[in-house]
Amino acid sequence: MKRIEAGSYYSYLPEGCKLCRRGAKLVLFITGMCRNSCFYCPISRERFGKDVIFANEREFKSFDDFIAEVELMSAEGVAITGGEPLLKLERVLEFTKLSNRLGLHIHLYTSIPAKEEVLKKLKVDEIRFHPPELKNPELYEDSIKFAKKIGIEAGFEIPAIKFEPKIVEIANRNDAFLNLNQLEASETNWSKLGDRGFKIEDYYVNCPEIVKKFEKANKFHYCSARFKDRAQFRRRLIRMAMNHPDFYLVTRDGTLLCCRIEGELDKAKKLLKNSGFDFSVFEDCIETSVELAENEKLREALISEGCKVYLVERYPTVKRTLIEVSRV
Ligand code: SF4
Repeated sequence: MKRIEAGSYYSYLPEGCKLCRRGAKLVLFITGMCRNSCFYCPISRERFGKDVIFANEREFKSFDDFIAEVELMSAEGVAITGGEPLLKLERVLEFTKLSNRLGLHIHLYTSIPAKEEVLKKLKVDEIRFHPPELKNPELYEDSIKFAKKIGIEAGFEIPAIKFEPKIVEIANRNDAFLNLNQLEASETNWSKLGDRGFKIEDYYVNCPEIVKKFEKANKFHYCSARFKDRAQFRRRLIRMAMNHPDFYLVTRDGTLLCCRIEGELDKAKKLLKNSGFDFSVFEDCIETSVELAENEKLREALISEGCKVYLVERYPTVKRTLIEVSRV
């Protein structure tokens, strides 16, 4: 087994996971609809059961939003997830067509044992089957066989809730991969996990005895929850941050440091231009270099024109979520 960051390890890493590890994979939430009700389902109340689409954190309204998100993070791959993506097959096909045109690697998660005709239509590089609550994994064997026959990399992706030997047997018999995810607690599954006796520590559930048993899979990968946070999310942020104009300072965590101006934006634009400052204009503010905080004359001029100036740290995502704000 090869050990990687934050407790993750593998004997085999599918291409989709390699991209994920580099922070190069865009998560396409294709719908919040799903016919299952897995007790560990981590999907938020805002999304579960609703027919909404998100490209990472960006709400999808048109394909331009998807392309903008691909560009923002310089994506190399897309993970199609939900909800249950195959409940919206036509929509999935539109996205796979576009993603293939953009040269993105595509992997898709599903809890449906997809039939031959669906697998043929999908045009994905990789498919990951999730038997809800790990029940009836034998239903997925034909789908795995057929996917592999037509050149789709196939396997299981399951949470570490219990050991299910049939999953290992089917994976090994078909030379399929087995991705095992550490259970993550969220506001929606917290009490259900507690009721079933799972011990939650710091939003994670540790089940090393379960993980150990699944290692019998020939193509095995254990993905820890901390890995998702520390490695893949952070690297995605760094990719996004580096695509911002040079005046932003990028932290080791992939967040951005800048000065934020609110208030009289037209007057602020004029003053910044005259002083040779680069800036970005948004609906609610202007962002510019942290050097503005040191420039007393310009700062005072902005304030006397009715502007408020802040030093901020924010995420480089489309929502520009603020992490720290201080008035200067
Ligand atoms: S199949 Fe997936 S989306 Fe549906 S309830 Fe289970 S975990 Fe949630």
